[in-house]
Amino acid sequence: MALFLLGAALTLWVLVWRGAPSYGLDGEFQGSRVPPLQVHPLPASLQNWSQETRSLQGAATYLEDLQQLPIGGLIWTEFPVSVYLGDRQELNLSTLPGQQYQNWQQAVRQSLEDWTPLIPLEETTDPDAANIRFYPRKPPLTLGLDWQIPRAAAARTTFRLRWQPVGDRPPEAVTLVQQFDIDLSPDLAKPHLLGTARHELGHALGLWGHSPFVDDVMYFSRTAKPQGISPRDRDTLIAQYQQPTRLGWVVPIKP
Ligand SMILES: [Zn+2]
Repeated sequence: MALFLLGAALTLWVLVWRGAPSYGLDGEFQGSRVPPLQVHPLPASLQNWSQETRSLQGAATYLEDLQQLPIGGLIWTEFPVSVYLGDRQELNLSTLPGQQYQNWQQAVRQSLEDWTPLIPLEETTDPDAANIRFYPRKPPLTLGLDWQIPRAAAARTTFRLRWQPVGDRPPEAVTLVQQFDIDLSPDLAKPHLLGTARHELGHALGLWGHSPFVDDVMYFSRTAKPQGISPRDRDTLIAQYQQPTRLGWVVPIKP
């Protein structure tokens, strides 16, 4: 299992950053088996919207404001995407009042409902297998995507990459898959709890960056009235899912 740990993924990051295919990966993963940078078919859930808004593509998105990553588009290729809600008991959060935790849960579940027409989401009780994990806690004071803004004190989204075995054991292939952790403070007032959950979930679904437009859910700063998912957010997501990526491709282990 050690082969599938973060180390290999981190090595890949270095490898891809340098753009030199001669650097080898740990263990059996060699440079020649870095996943290809290719475009996946557009998810069915985005296809109808895409046809409806085709004429708007380009100018009506903030795709250019999203961060360019060495792995390409930070998108999902298997659906539904599974989401875990940090459990109050398991996390030993006895100091978190029950009502506050319920409000937190409610806001996170509403944010799942808001995004699921675009990217199908499903709640899971297994934190290890989950694609996205929400935790009812304040983020630590370190630099993250939202470090420069007031939202920082309330939420933070991070991700790591890992190799996921494909097929029987021992697996003959792997895919590179992302896993997100979202710290979302339960101290936020109700409307901001929902607005922030929606915004952070947008990062985890592929919008890795911010919109310069105040009426988008991915606007970089918190607004007096939390925004819903705008047509521009949706079109940017559609454009992002048409970007090439190294995620989700089946890569053979053996030559
Ligand atoms: Zn953000």
